[in-house]
Amino acid sequence: MSKGNIYVVSGPSGVGKGTVVKQVVDQNDNVVLSVSATTRSPREGEIDKVHYFFLTKEEFQKKVDEDGFLEHAAYCGNCYGTPKQAVLDKVAEGYDVILEIDIQGGLQILKKLPGAMGIFILPPSYKTLEKRLRGRQSETDEVIQKRLEAAREEIKQSYLYDYFVVNGPLEETVRSVEKIISDNRKEQ
Ligand code: ADP
Ligand code: 5GP
Repeated sequence: MSKGNIYVVSGPSGVGKGTVVKQVVDQNDNVVLSVSATTRSPREGEIDKVHYFFLTKEEFQKKVDEDGFLEHAAYCGNCYGTPKQAVLDKVAEGYDVILEIDIQGGLQILKKLPGAMGIFILPPSYKTLEKRLRGRQSETDEVIQKRLEAAREEIKQSYLYDYFVVNGPLEETVRSVEKIISDNRKEQ
């Protein structure tokens, strides 16, 4: 079996990355999602080790010191990191692995792993982005404002990614991401 590919999927908070990626992973047996570690608190319904490895700041720092992350970054006051060994093992087994991570971490990966590909998910408009963030009802007004400001900066750097997908109607977005993945498989 040939090795799998690594896809970094980034985009502003609330753009719909999680929703899109979940469908892609659920519908494609050869695609798996890397489970990140974070120091933020779980949202309602989030399960430890399924959605994230929820770590204390001390636990997170220990893993940084042990070189246990492929990348890590601070985002809006919390730390996030991609566990290294789990990703490399899955790629070696032939799976395509999606890292749904912020742009700082994404750019670290694209630089460090030249075979990795970046997919940047854009909202149809800033208004739509704000609506989706508010609709999710998981953040306070202050956090939403912070995330909207961060979104403008992230979109400015998105030119460093390989693919751009506008998340309009969900089914179309999912199909676009699936096509990117299957086209790259065919080329191997
Ligand atoms: P992210 O992972 O980028 O922070 P989420 O996947 O949590 O974003 O999505 C944010 C909100 O937008 C959720 O309420 C989700 O249901 C909604 N959403 C995601 N994709 C779409 C879409 N294509 N059209 C309309 N709403 C969407
Ligand atoms: P949230 O708190 O909404 O789950 O995630 C906030 C941001 O952190 C999102 O942009 C998400 O993609 C990003 N993120 C999640 N996991 C990681 C990770 O392992 N590394 C980095 N750099 N960012 C991550």
